[in-house]
Amino acid sequence: MSVIVFVEHDGGVIKKKNFEAVQYASGIAQKTGATVTAVILGTIADAEIEKLGAYGAQKVLHVDDNRLDELHPRAYTTALLTAIEKEDAKIIVALNDINGRAVAPRVAVKLKAGLVAGALTYPDMEKGFLIKKAVYSGKAFAYVNITSDTKVIMLMPNTFPVAKTEGKATIEKLPVNFGDKDFGIKVKEVSKVTGEVSLSDAALVVSGGRGMKGPENWYLIEDLAKELGAATACSRPVSDADWRPHHEHVGQTGGTIRPDLYIAVGISGAIQHLAGVNGSKTIVVINRDPEAPFFKAANYGVIGDAMEVLPRLTEAVKKF
Ligand code: FAD
Repeated sequence: MSVIVFVEHDGGVIKKKNFEAVQYASGIAQKTGATVTAVILGTIADAEIEKLGAYGAQKVLHVDDNRLDELHPRAYTTALLTAIEKEDAKIIVALNDINGRAVAPRVAVKLKAGLVAGALTYPDMEKGFLIKKAVYSGKAFAYVNITSDTKVIMLMPNTFPVAKTEGKATIEKLPVNFGDKDFGIKVKEVSKVTGEVSLSDAALVVSGGRGMKGPENWYLIEDLAKELGAATACSRPVSDADWRPHHEHVGQTGGTIRPDLYIAVGISGAIQHLAGVNGSKTIVVINRDPEAPFFKAANYGVIGDAMEVLPRLTEAVKKF
């Protein structure tokens, strides 16, 4: 029996969060005496796929079909179901991200499987199959028991640190019989990286809110991000006003990130914003209003004008 893990790649490059998913599947497999089979779709070189072995995949099934280079939720589901049947898998792991959300619920429906979205822990087998997840925009936690025979878990990215092992994976091509309907709907995802570092993978993030006053001041955020090797993010009103591109917006209706360091500049700290960033390990808030709610969630706070604090902070970082 295998634990199946759905692995995504970005134009042939596997991102850190996918290694985390494989490692997570491996942790579950060790508890259940199963092996780990990763499933990867579309055009990607064997040398890149082989990296999955170091995170616990024993086998990788590669559906080498260039139509899958774009997100076709139905075709992805068919491919995954083919792999699940082949491996007789009862536990399926995917990430709680765009591709995972497009595929995992479809797989769960087809298999009549229970699903937990946004898992934050390994399943506690002594209590059934109990998994902790965040609810109400991260304000509370729920403990969910999956009681169905087949189980689908969507792991919240950036929950666990990843560590390499000496493990190696074998690669097999997986033929899949796609039907015409499989390619009937397509999600055209345009993934842009504005900073030098991709936001979803970034360990350090510098983020700006309406307190930055306008896009003409964003060089202050970018200068600090550049010195730190950080990605840039923003609050929703900032992306709504087109000061920054939509994919940089974090929060309840934007991306969820869990960097080691989140620096929030001129952001008030509304609950909808915190929902996307409150898993950050360290939060630094720069705001001129000492009563800004974000200070309550901060590890460190600077009360001051962003236009004055940011250049000084960037200069200080340069000296390191
Ligand atoms: P503001 O609330 O205007 O705060 C600006 C802050 O900058 C203030 O604290 C001010 O003191 C400070 N400031 C001003 N000038 C300076 C200066 N010179 N130097 C330093 N600080 C200064 N928001 C999100 O971010 N993400 C979401 O996903 C999201 N989803 C939402 C979903 C729903 C259903 C709803 C209703 C709202 C959502 N919002 C979301 C909006 C959210 O409620 C807040 O309105 C938003 O986060 C506020 O953005 P802000 O902090 O940039 O702006």
